[in-house]
Order: sequence, then structure tokens, then C-alpha cells
Amino acid sequence: MIKYAGVIINNESSNVDKAFTYKIPEPMVDLVKLGLRVKVPFGRGNRIIDGFIIELFDNCENINNLKEISEICDDFTVIREQDIKLINIMREKYMCTYLDCIKLIMPTGITRGMKHKMTKVVSIKNSLTEKYDKEPYRSIFTIVENNNCKYTKNEISKKFNISISSINTLVKHEFLDYNIKVVDRYNERIYDRYEEKKLNIDQYEAINKIMTDKNNKFLIHGVTGSGKTEIYMKLVSMIIAEGKEAIMLVPEIALTPQMLERFKGRFGKNIAVFHSRLSDGERYDEWLRVKSGKVKVAVGARSALFLPFKNLGIIIIDEEHELSYKSDVTPKYNAIDVAIIKSEIEKCKLVLGSATPSIETYYKCKNGDIQLIEINNRADGAELPAVNIVDMREELLSNNRSMFSRELKESISTALERKEQIILFLNRRGHSTFVSCRKCGYVFKCDHCDIALTYHSDSKKLICHYCGDVRSLPSTCPQCKSHYVKYFGVGTEKIEGEVWKEFPNAKTLRMDYDTTRSKNSYENIYNIFKNGEADILIGTQMVAKGLDFKNVTLVGVIAADLSLNLPDYRANERTFQLINQVSGRAGRGSKKGKVIIQTYNPTSSSIIAASKNDYLGFYKEELQMRYLMDYPPFKKILLINLSSKYENLLIKNIQNVALLLKNMLQKNSNINILGPCPCSISKIKEMYRWQIIIKGDFDNKYACNIKKIVYDSIKTDYNNIRVSMDINPTSLL
Ligand code: ADP
Ligand code: ZN
Ligand code: ZN
Repeated sequence: MIKYAGVIINNESSNVDKAFTYKIPEPMVDLVKLGLRVKVPFGRGNRIIDGFIIELFDNCENINNLKEISEICDDFTVIREQDIKLINIMREKYMCTYLDCIKLIMPTGITRGMKHKMTKVVSIKNSLTEKYDKEPYRSIFTIVENNNCKYTKNEISKKFNISISSINTLVKHEFLDYNIKVVDRYNERIYDRYEEKKLNIDQYEAINKIMTDKNNKFLIHGVTGSGKTEIYMKLVSMIIAEGKEAIMLVPEIALTPQMLERFKGRFGKNIAVFHSRLSDGERYDEWLRVKSGKVKVAVGARSALFLPFKNLGIIIIDEEHELSYKSDVTPKYNAIDVAIIKSEIEKCKLVLGSATPSIETYYKCKNGDIQLIEINNRADGAELPAVNIVDMREELLSNNRSMFSRELKESISTALERKEQIILFLNRRGHSTFVSCRKCGYVFKCDHCDIALTYHSDSKKLICHYCGDVRSLPSTCPQCKSHYVKYFGVGTEKIEGEVWKEFPNAKTLRMDYDTTRSKNSYENIYNIFKNGEADILIGTQMVAKGLDFKNVTLVGVIAADLSLNLPDYRANERTFQLINQVSGRAGRGSKKGKVIIQTYNPTSSSIIAASKNDYLGFYKEELQMRYLMDYPPFKKILLINLSSKYENLLIKNIQNVALLLKNMLQKNSNINILGPCPCSISKIKEMYRWQIIIKGDFDNKYACNIKKIVYDSIKTDYNNIRVSMDINPTSLL
């Protein structure tokens, strides 16, 4: 008989990161389950605190001083049994705590006692007596009769223009009553029906393979516009027909309006939406809707992967190469890897899709771990656009100092004349990148973060994009006192200004981090452009993804090199992906599209491969480089980052960490320790930053050992030094 439970305590401290054994009191024995949230006495003072049951057992060696569980919190489990397996794997893989993982799985509000939002609606209690069977009571009574339990008192008053006091009178004399009703906090908006398409042969074969193959993991490598979304939706409806459930991940909020239009238009209310902009309340409600089986499909950003479906049939991840699938906060998990593990635990299907799969995922296909499905044609028969590379150095030689090449200018005016739409793409945010002195080369940097400040023309201010510090723009150089202080580079605002100059009649729209910060702004911009109310959409990465506008025939990539020069081993891959994705926005309808890529680096192999839509060529070359340089997928990279307000303390400690790591790990010829050295961004928010990079062939257990060495070798209060560990990080800045 089960008598004891292993409980994870809801406490941040890493030294309580283990299951504590509690005795289950007699009356609770039949009620306890794995995954329940419970209250337990903890610590010397026996403070009552939340915990989560992740183990149950009949015997226990040391039963003398065991404390008892005090209370079961909810009438449902907050962690599913399958998730306990997943938590155990993730904790090792990402070197984090149980609680870090549990927090991904349960809605944040729950431990703060969040409940459903309730409201009091008006209902009928008794028929009107003769005395009250007159106006205004008679009409109020009829309204409530027709809308029983639908509206609150205030809503009735507003909607039907009725005085609150008359309603009160009817309640007082027990003709009307209040009922408590649960309010759904989720978005109730109804979308137009998105009709099913008749599948083409590529789509049909892809679906057939996924539904019948004995393997469970697939990658759809389909060119942009190949109709992957229609495949996803068909798969989802087939899985629902089997009585199972589906999770569909999309990269980030930027993709959601179009996806929602399609998914809600197809599946209606049967769908939960889960992303980072939900309030805790909305998040809680959506979580419960999934938990209670009210919805069968969830669409969302990476965190939707952890929603508590009972009988998950499929996980679909669109644009699987996107960096936003890697979490940048602890636990620093990669949703693709976690989805692979989850699909194995739950024996459900996993479908990854992309026009430019990540090198790691494609490599898994070549290894046979994932089944590859290739689609080389656009679904609606449209041709892929023609891609031209323009050498900007030659433009300068020909005395063209504008940020638009002659070819791009001509193409823009042709498209405008034909009333076709244009997307101009820039991999950068803000008005310009940095302000410098043209005479002595001095660059304005943030005092706190050691990175170049960005000039914003709206406010005429310099802003630090790491800590948010704002400064006004000085007119003289602090170093040489000259007046040649100017901003460098380009931003979306500057491009917009330039477009206005060259094409004063064109209507422009800007889509970047700054213009999409408020809640519905992305959707608004999307709709304006979709409805043809603007000619030119100017944007950052956001415009590169997934958007499907039929009337766009021209895409201009303003400076393809921007992403090539990042200090990151994925810089080539990022460049290939961005160019390919943004090119895929052109010529999606019946008109042939054209893409113009401007660069100072026209011989770069990733730019050339992207211009030819040659994924395989790019993949082969890139894989070779990864192999030679010991990068993933061949070797792992573990980034150990230490930060502190106290520079000397930080340096002393990280040197000590490195010394111990070198002593203990160097025997292993498969391991390489780089550093310690200051990070590229050597200071953020007054915190100095240093890093050690470990490159090599090691498993999860080994990584956990490394973590232990790191923590053991820090010789100061943990409050003074912050440690972060990241496996295969997305950036080494
Ligand atoms: P992807 O996600 O692969 O880039 P989409 O799913 O956006 O491509 O599809 C591209 C376009 O093709 C969309 O406008 C879509 O409506 C259309 N489409 C998809 N499947 C079909 C089909 N079977 N027949 C006709 N048009 C289709
Ligand atoms: Zn100067
Ligand atoms: Zn700063």
C-alpha cells in the first residue's frame, strides 16, 4: 500500500532541489496521486508550503522523523504522470532544477491561489405577482426570461437601458436571483470560416506518409508557399477524428494573427491559444480548458508544448529552424529537442516543418532519426521568384550613395506603377545602429553595457538596447571636440524616410519591434497591408516569416551582410534562412515575383546559395564547416556565464572555476575548455560578464558534473555572483 510521497518543494533555492519524503496521512491514502499539488510543513519552523508529488512508494527506510502531508490543494493533478518523466530528463539535460521544469508545466497563477474568474448573472426565481406585473417590471422580467443567466445586473442595465434600482427591487422580492457563473478570459473573437483546400498530390502524399508510417518523427522540408499549413490542418483534423489531441507550435507572437485566422477559421472554438502576451488569468483559463478536455487543439509559442492534454496525438512545429524555440531564460531548453523527447514518451507523432530546416534537424534526417519529406513546388502552382544579387560596392563606385541600388529603385517604381506591393527587409531595429565621430572614429557607447547606443529619430535620443538607458545626442565629439558627429548605418525608419523622398506617392508601413509593441499592433499592420491599403511594407525579421500576401511581387533585402557579421557560429545559417524566408514572401499569387539582395559581400556562399534556393548545397558546405570547427551537431557547446557587480571578485572566481575545470576535465581528450574571457558584451545593467566555453562530446550526466564543479569552486556568497549555464546557446554574445 502506498504510504509515502516524494514531494518537490515550491522554493527557489537550489539546495532544496530534490524530492523530500512525506508520510501520507491515513484519510488521504486513496486520494493522493502523482502530480498533485499539496501543502506540506517544511524546514525547522514547519512553515506550510506548496509542493508537488512526483514519487509514491510503499516502503521507506527512515520513517521515524517523517512529516505528514497537510492538505491536497486541487481536485486535479497539475503535473501529468508522463510529465514527471519529461521533468526528470529536462532537469539533467538543461542543468536546471525540478521546480524550473514544473513551472513550465503549470500555470503561474495556480500557486498564488488563482481560481476561475466568477461573475454574478441574473436569473429567474419566481413568476411576477399581480402587484408587480406592470412596467417597468414586466419588461425587465421578460428580458431576463429571454436571457436567463446570460448577463450581469450592470450589463442588463446598460444593454437595455434599465435602471439598476428596478432590478434590485425584483431581486429583493425574489422574482429574480443571482447565479454564479465562470467567466472565460480567453479571446472570444469569431473568425471567418477558413475553407479546406483540395489537397494536391504533394500534400496528399506527405499526409499519407505521416499517418501510416511506422516511424513517428517527420520533417517536412517544403519550399516557401508549398502549402505546409494546409498539411498541418489536415493532420490536426485527422488526429481529432481519432479522438486525440494536437499541439501546434508557431515561432512567436508575430505569426499568430495569420495562423489564428486559419486555425480558428477551421477549428472554431475547439482551440486554445497560448503565448507570452497572455495575462496570468488568461493563461490559467486556457490551461484549464485544455486540462478539462474542452479543447482538442492548442496553437501557441514554445510554452504551449507543455499544455496538459490527456491523449496527445500529434505535435506540429512550424518554422522549426526559428531561434525563438530556444528559451533564453532558465530552463534554457530547446523546444525542438524537448518535443522529440515528449513524442517518444507519449508515443505521439511529431511533425517539424520548414523551408530552411536547421542544420541540426536536417542532420537528424540524414541519420535516420527523423523521416524526411521533401516538397519542391508551391501549392498554388506559383513559381519561385527570380533572385538577383546587387554588389553595393559598385553602386558606390558609380556614385550612387543612396541606400537603394539603381536596380532596386527601378523595380520599386515598376511595381508601384503596376499597383503591386513591395516588402523591404532589414535585419536591424531602430533608426540607425550607432553614432560615431567621422573625424576620429569615436563611437558612443552605453556606460553600463559597453555596447553602441542606437539613435532614434522620433525622440532624437540615443538608446541602449540592452539596459534601456536614454541619452541626448551631443553635437561635439567628447574625444576630439570636432562637430563631425553623425549616425551610421540604416534602420527601418531611415529606409522609410528614404522611400518617402524617392517615392512621395507610395504609402508605407513599418513593422518592427518598435511599431509592434502594443497588443494588437502586429495584427493591425498585417490587416492594413493585406487589404492593400499600403504599397510598401518595411520591416525587420518579423516580415520574413510566414506571411502570405498574394499581391507582393517585389522583395528587397537592403543589407544582407548585417547578419553575416554577428559573432556567432550560426551567422551563415541565419543569413541563409533570413534571405530564403524573406524571398519566399514574393510572388505568392499568380504574378511572378522578384527578389533583390543588396550586399557588400556578394561572394558569400550563404548569400549565393540562398539566391539559388539551394538548401542542399548550403547544408553540405555548412556541415563541413561545423565538422572542422567542432560545432553542433558534431560537438556540444556549453556556455558558462558568470556575472557580478564586482569585477575583481568575478575575475578571481571565474579563473578559479576554469582552473578546477581544466584539472578535472582535461584528461578527457574530447573536451575543450575555452576562456575564461570577458563576454562580447562585457557589461549589462552594471553587471560585469565573463564566460567559459566548453566544447566537446559529453552527455547529460557529464554536464551535471560540470555544473557541480562550477558551483563548488565559487568561493563567495552566491548572491554576489550569478551563474548561467546554457547548452548549445543561440548566441555567444
Ligand atoms: P507554406 O506554409 O508552405 O509557406 P502556405 O501554407 O502559406 O505555405 O500556402 C501557400 C499558399 O498556397 C496559401 O495561399 C494557401 O492558401 C495555398 N494553398 C495551400 N494548399 C493549397 C491547395 N491544395 N490548393 C490550392 N492552394 C493551396
Ligand atoms: Zn572625434
Ligand atoms: Zn546599457
